[in-house]
Amino acid sequence: MSTPTPHYMIVGGGITGLSAAFYLKKRLEAEGRPFRISVVEKSAAFGGKIRTIEKEGFVIEKGPDSFLARKRPIIDLAYDLGLEQELTGTNPKAKKTYIVRQGKLHRMPPGLVLGIPTQMTPFMKTGLISPLGKVRAALDLVLPKREITNDESLGHFLERRLGKEVLERIVEPLLAGIYAGDTFNLSLKSTFPQFRTMEQKHRSLILGMMASRKNVPEETAHLPAAIRSSVFVTFKKGLQTLVSGLVAALESADLRTGLGVASIRQAGQQTEVLFEDGSSEIVDGVIVTSPTYQAAQILGHFPPASELKKIDYISVANVIMAFDRKDIPFELDASGFLVPRNEGSTITACTLTSAKWLHTAPEGKVLLRCYIGRSGEQEWPAWSDEQLISKARHDLRNLLGLTAEPLFTEVTRLNHSMPQYPVGHLEQIARFREELNAAMPQVLVTGAGFHGVGLPDCIRQGKEAAWQLADRIIH
Ligand code: FAD
Repeated sequence: MSTPTPHYMIVGGGITGLSAAFYLKKRLEAEGRPFRISVVEKSAAFGGKIRTIEKEGFVIEKGPDSFLARKRPIIDLAYDLGLEQELTGTNPKAKKTYIVRQGKLHRMPPGLVLGIPTQMTPFMKTGLISPLGKVRAALDLVLPKREITNDESLGHFLERRLGKEVLERIVEPLLAGIYAGDTFNLSLKSTFPQFRTMEQKHRSLILGMMASRKNVPEETAHLPAAIRSSVFVTFKKGLQTLVSGLVAALESADLRTGLGVASIRQAGQQTEVLFEDGSSEIVDGVIVTSPTYQAAQILGHFPPASELKKIDYISVANVIMAFDRKDIPFELDASGFLVPRNEGSTITACTLTSAKWLHTAPEGKVLLRCYIGRSGEQEWPAWSDEQLISKARHDLRNLLGLTAEPLFTEVTRLNHSMPQYPVGHLEQIARFREELNAAMPQVLVTGAGFHGVGLPDCIRQGKEAAWQLADRIIH
């Protein structure tokens, strides 16, 4: 009697789930092992947060729009899928970024990396920070390192190294683009562990950041030459290219959309997956990649999964607007601007999308993207699309003098979309995974809620889960 082909199921078809399926397939094929892979996605389409639309010649990202070029997993995946020629960098003529201070746009001083100064002369000249604030930041150069091994909050760490002003006026608005969070509620170890390493190795965050900058050319050596100088990279036709590439590479797999997984439970040596339509299937391994609050529901039969509910998710909205170039009363020589919390604006940032990414608008047209929502500013889901547009336009009028009627607008609502890793997150996750491994060794749970929210981190996590599953299940 022949043994049935082992069947693996990936729950969630965002970038983590698709990457997990892709790398599981690649590994099992390379080892000549028989397998069947299913990817089950609750919504109508694959891609999760990634969604690109094309409209009147514009390329519009409704979720993420790019990624950090120095992070290998996404570039490696682009090569694995034969998509490296589709990569594109930012417009070198729009490298400036502005930060709002008392209702005015100030240029971010050159040399800031993640908000940490690496060139002291431009930092000392900026009007963003008071003279006292600059002296306080410079104290980082002489303050001793703190000998602590426990996690601490990102805000606490940055405040003790660089002072309150740099934290509030520069670093927090910059990092808000990644986490939309309150830095005092975010885990340092889970968000920027390199900051802690820099402090331990170089005593000073500024000195550590200066030293790490010297490695940049090596870090980008893997990139195609045309984009080597770009910090951020995307695909010429949008990030959907990556999703379509993965879906095409998984052609022989069983790809299902519009089907949610309700729960998972142990069934002898195997796993039973129950779907929201009432059907069920017995499989040999599962990788759950949904947001953690959904994973907690799916694993409802396994009490330690309730720990996952502690990871809060912030809701954000985007208002995207298209204009005629002639209606824009300012230079398009910057990638955009950031708005700190206490500025009284609704928008938290604005990307001058078509200045930053030349492929996103037709000749003579301009695309702007305003961000709304961060921790402590979560009233927006109750507002209508018209209210969101009106508030974003009000801010653009005040900050940029932009009064023209947009050619069109696109509003995106991403409810509960930005995970906030709490202090102690890494330890909590490690404990949860240990318990899960002991109880259900053929079930793995991963994704943006665990070890990194950026697209490259999600791909890395999907690949790691695929390899762990392949290692655990020996047939
Ligand atoms: P998701 O994309 O959330 O995918 C999970 C999937 O699971 C979803 O498709 C969901 O429908 C499905 N699912 C849920 N429950 C079930 C169920 N019960 N059964 C089956 N399927 C289920 N990162 C960057 O690197 N660069 C950026 O520019 C950037 N910008 C961002 C902008 C915004 C507005 C947001 C919200 C995030 C941004 N990020 C960015 C972060 C990045 O987009 C996400 O972290 C990443 O896309 C998450 O991928 P994922 O696969 O882990 O989760």
